[in-house]
This record gives sequence, C-alpha cells and structure tokens, in this order.
Amino acid sequence: MSHVFPRHCNATLPTATAGDGCFLIDQDGKRYFDGSGGAAVSCLGHSNARVRDAVKAQVDQMAFAHTSFFTSDPAEQLADLLIEHAPGDLDRVYFVSGGSEAVESAIKLARQFHLENGEPARKHLIARRQSYHGNTIGALSAGGNAWRRQQFAPLLVEMSHIAPCYEYAERPEGESLEDYGQRTANELEAEILRLGPETVMAFIAEPVVGATLGAVPAVPGYFKRIREICDQYGVLLILDEVMCGMGRTGHLYACEADGIAPDILTIAKGLGAGYQPIGAMLCTSQIYNTIAQGTGFFQHGHTYIGHPVAAAAGLAVVQEILENDLIPQVKARGTYLQQQLEARLGQHPHVGDIRGRGLFRGVELVADRDSKTPFDPKYGVAAKIKKAAFAEGLICYPMPGARDGRVGDHILLAPPFIASEAELSGLVDMLATAI
Ligand code: PMP
Repeated sequence: MSHVFPRHCNATLPTATAGDGCFLIDQDGKRYFDGSGGAAVSCLGHSNARVRDAVKAQVDQMAFAHTSFFTSDPAEQLADLLIEHAPGDLDRVYFVSGGSEAVESAIKLARQFHLENGEPARKHLIARRQSYHGNTIGALSAGGNAWRRQQFAPLLVEMSHIAPCYEYAERPEGESLEDYGQRTANELEAEILRLGPETVMAFIAEPVVGATLGAVPAVPGYFKRIREICDQYGVLLILDEVMCGMGRTGHLYACEADGIAPDILTIAKGLGAGYQPIGAMLCTSQIYNTIAQGTGFFQHGHTYIGHPVAAAAGLAVVQEILENDLIPQVKARGTYLQQQLEARLGQHPHVGDIRGRGLFRGVELVADRDSKTPFDPKYGVAAKIKKAAFAEGLICYPMPGARDGRVGDHILLAPPFIASEAELSGLVDMLATAI
C-alpha cells in the first residue's frame, strides 16, 4: 500500500522513474510526452544538464542560509536578471517557494503598502470570476473559481469578482473586439465606484488565463484600460504570471504583449522549471520604499524564502531561456502548434475554440460547435480526454468547466520550449485520437 497522500484519494498512479527531454518514463518503461509540462512547469523538459549541474554545484557549496541572517549569490544574481528584463518600474524581487506563496505575498504587500501610505481603509481586493490564484486560504480567497471556493467559505480577504475577458464565450454577436474589451474592463471601474475607491487595495488578474479558462488572452486594449482605471483610483495592479510567465507565451513576462506593466507581479512554475520549487513576487521601488522608509519591515515571510539551491536552479533556467534564444522559438513553435491543432481539430464537431499565445494553448470542447453549446457536466468530457490521452502516452491538463461555476470543458497544452515540430505534431495526433 502506498502511504503517499495522492491528490485524488484512491487513485492508483504509475510511478514516474525517469525524465528524458520532453518525456517522462514510468516503471514499465512507458514514455509519456509532457504536453502540459505537468501544469505549465517543465519548460525545459526533464533532463536539462545546465539546471541539474547548477543545483548539484549549489548543494555542494552551501545548501541553506536563513534570510534573516544572509543573502546569497544565486538569489542576488537571479533577482538582477529578472529585474533587468522586467517591464515598467519593477525593481525588487521577493523569493518564495511557489505560486500560492507568491500570491499571498502580493496580497499582503498591497495591504501593507496602503497602510504605510496612510490609507488604511484600502482592504478590498478585486479579482475576476473563473480565476485561480492558488490554493492557500488567502490566494484561494482571491480566486473566483466557484467550485474550489464553495466548501471553504467564508474565505478571508475582502473580495469581489468581476467578469473575465473571455471573448469566445461571452462577447455578444455584433459587438466589436475593441468594444467588448473596453466594456469588460470598465466593470472594474464600476466595482471600484460601488465599493468606494478609498476602500480598494488592488486588482489581480492573469494576463493569459491558464487553468480556469484554458489559455485565454485578453482582447487588445483590455489591459491598457485596466491600467488606466487602477491609476485613476490609486488601486494597485497585481498581475499573476505564475502559469503564463517565464517565456511560456513567447514573452519573458506575458504582460509585455499587452503593453502594460503592473505594480506587483507574481511568477513561479516555469521559474524553477520543475527542478526546484521556487516562486517570486516582483514589485516597484515605490512600494518597496514606502515600506522601507516606514516600518522598514515587510510583515510576511517563510522559512525557505530565497533558498540558495532553488535560486541556483531559477538562475540556470532563466539563463538557459535567454542565452539559447528560446523565446523566439516558443513564438514560432506556438504558431506551428496552433496551425496543427486547427488543421487536425478545427472542423471537429466537438471542438469549439483553439486559442492561446506561444506554447500556451487551449482547446475548448463543446456539445455543438455552431451554437457553442457546452457539454453537460455529467459527461465529464475533459477528464475523459485526459484519461484517453494518458493511455496514448500524452500528458495534457484538463479543466472541467462545470467546476468553475459554468458549464464547459477544455484541455490546456503547455509543452516544453524544447519540443520539436515533429514532437508537437505527435502531441496533436495523440490528442486528436483521444478526442
Ligand atoms: N496562480 C496561478 C495563475 C496558477 O495557475 C497557480 C497554479 N496552478 C497558482 C497561482 C498557484 O501556484 P502553486 O500551485 O505553485 O501554489
């Protein structure tokens, strides 16, 4: 009997024993193409020598030094590299162990900033429906995923949720993309005014929505309007790039494509690429200085923040992405993957929308493609496709839409950046067979 507490109790899982490029291998030698990078994690595949060697070297040299007493070379170098390429005025990095911790840090930083800036009434956080920002209780409070929230209510943060920018499912026929984007963004202004601008601390959103919608970017102009509204009302903009950041969309930071920069940005998953658990929160000098010149103490921390081995892995990952020009490769292979998906599945009666950016793609599954009618949740279509794909030797990430307070399913694809065209075409074959 296994004593490991699995995510799905009673599940019997194969044992992963080895990694080879884009593949994971189980105890029987069966090879699985990692079409979702786990959950948009393994951007460099499973046997990257540079990251492996960097981790080994750091363990040999010095594994741990608590951040109350020391900084470390890998943490400093990684922070420098992240800031060198970061959008806007982001110029401080706070390292944590994963995505939820990064979001927790962002929420608490926003709250503390307003307190120290003389605006203690700013407590409300606004997010979007059908969003996911992590599973710890604060990050869960932020997310607008109805299924995940319901059993833990009442949640912690003073929250409200506005509509996502989800053009395929929610733009009325006849409304232009631009009008839809402006109208959806203006929901933020309406919500700020409803709550009272002096009570709102921040708005949080993913530039390209990952798990809950399936690689859905906002329409052009949406985030520019969001940025304007935040500036107008003194509301901090937190962009959660835990899933879509670190090159996944064909930009190191996904928000570059929207032409805006946030006040606080979170990253994780692809930063450690699976070699080490690491996440980070980036913030502007204005936020940092307010706290530094105020109480001088950010009231948040975890034992393992800034872990040298995790930072060494993160540094090697970002160097590998930048020095090997993987970002243009992600763009080109992403276009290829989109074309292959459209060619193989574009006319399928149960495939609705195929979308995304870079190597971050979503396939929407519908009962009827003309009317966009979603499947009845009782069929559990996305979960069945995941199972059928796994049997074919493909790892893909399902999202049963019904879990998110709406009816509808999709499959998320986030293959490693090193995947060849032949491998991506194999991915599409296996997915098409499964569907
Ligand atoms: N934010 C987003 C956008 C995510 O996709 C996730 C994980 N799926 C998280 C936060 C939480 O990250 P973690 O699982 O590393 O805590």
